Amino acid sequence: MKNYDYLVVGAGLFGATFAYEAAKRGKRVKVIEKRDHIAGNIYTKEVDGIQVHQYGAHIFHTSNKEVWEYVNQFAEFNRYTNSPVANYKGHMYNLPFNMNTFSEMWGVRTPEEAMAKINEQRQEMAGKEPKNLEEQAISLIGRDIYEKLIKGYTEKQWGQKATELPAFIIRRLPVRLVYDNNYFNDTYQGIPIGGYTQIVEKMLNSDLIDVETGVDFFDQKAKYLEDYPKIVFTGMIDQFFDYQLGELQYRSLRFETEEKNVGNYQGNAVINYTDAETPYTRIIEHKHFEFGKGDKDKTIITREYPADWHRGDEPYYPINNQRNNDLYKQYTKLADEKADNVIFGGRLGQYRYYNMDQVLHAALTAVNKEFD
Ligand code: FAD
Ligand code: UDP
Repeated sequence: MKNYDYLVVGAGLFGATFAYEAAKRGKRVKVIEKRDHIAGNIYTKEVDGIQVHQYGAHIFHTSNKEVWEYVNQFAEFNRYTNSPVANYKGHMYNLPFNMNTFSEMWGVRTPEEAMAKINEQRQEMAGKEPKNLEEQAISLIGRDIYEKLIKGYTEKQWGQKATELPAFIIRRLPVRLVYDNNYFNDTYQGIPIGGYTQIVEKMLNSDLIDVETGVDFFDQKAKYLEDYPKIVFTGMIDQFFDYQLGELQYRSLRFETEEKNVGNYQGNAVINYTDAETPYTRIIEHKHFEFGKGDKDKTIITREYPADWHRGDEPYYPINNQRNNDLYKQYTKLADEKADNVIFGGRLGQYRYYNMDQVLHAALTAVNKEFD
């Protein structure tokens, strides 16, 4: 065993960014990763000349210039703009909710007509404070859109009634009175040409960093804690403490990937299935993230099925409701008392529904705290 300064647990975006910055400062870093590949959930792999997003559609978007410039060191980004389409029982609606959606839904043509319709629909929530996702959605956009484009998708995605879900989940979705299908409001957006894996590969490519895949921290937790002066842990914080305060909740997913012998299967990178009956939430067709690049007679699609999480499953989403956030806080207290040589980071370590740009920001914040 060399004289490492850090053990980084997890070769995802948080762990890799920390390792890269530590090595830049002359520190020796060991990275362990339980999967058989690096890059965590942003992992992409080339099949038929197409970059396949192995863990679901990943679109980089941010309004943080520093983060955008930072990530551009490691890849060149294309001009991909996310504009998913919703399929509700065979009817196609543009997302996010904008003039195209309103026009398809109600036959309205102007922002004034759309606003009048939305206001009429919102009446049922007039004067009431939305207490859950259903009420939030209706007060934002009205019942028609809620029933057709939100309710089924959301209840599948989270495995709970919309009346039991926190309102904040839906506040992520923009509502616009212009004919603009850009899903995000951010200043910068794109997909790295050639995929995401190269970003993490470049970050970890240093003489000062050793990476081992197929290694689970919990197989030798005590030894790692003894051997390494400092640990950066990007797995589940409740698992780190052997769930001693109780389990945090997560949502899992199952991905079903298929090669099709057609050049263009669905005409868009992302189609959401917003009815309750279709068991998957979305189908992604990977080649459209790079404007059709790859084999012209083949395409790769992935259906995304939401799933309950049980110990041992992949914890794709933290469920940031009040109960879980309170429990997470108690775990951070435990971390301060019992594990002051461990930095908990990333979507699982910080138990936050982070996007990639937020993970980069969180990792750079941890780096500043550690070194500056
Ligand atoms: P992870 O990528 O989860 O990395 C953690 C790593 O630690 C994993 O590789 C894991 O195997 C490893 N690990 C865990 N426990 C152990 C252990 N005990 N021992 C060893 N290794 C361990 N963000 C966007 O910005 N845009 C998007 O469009 C977008 N779409 C998404 C779609 C889906 C379906 C999902 C699930 C997420 C999406 N995200 C998106 C979020 C993005 O994936 C995350 O922000 C980012 O990947 C989190 O990085 P991380 O390093 O925190 O976690
Ligand atoms: N959502 C919806 N209908 C859609 C897409 C999203 O109701 O067609 C809701 C759903 O509750 C989802 C939330 O909006 O959980 C956030 O969607 P986003 O696409 O940002 O989620 P992610 O890509 O993180 O899964």
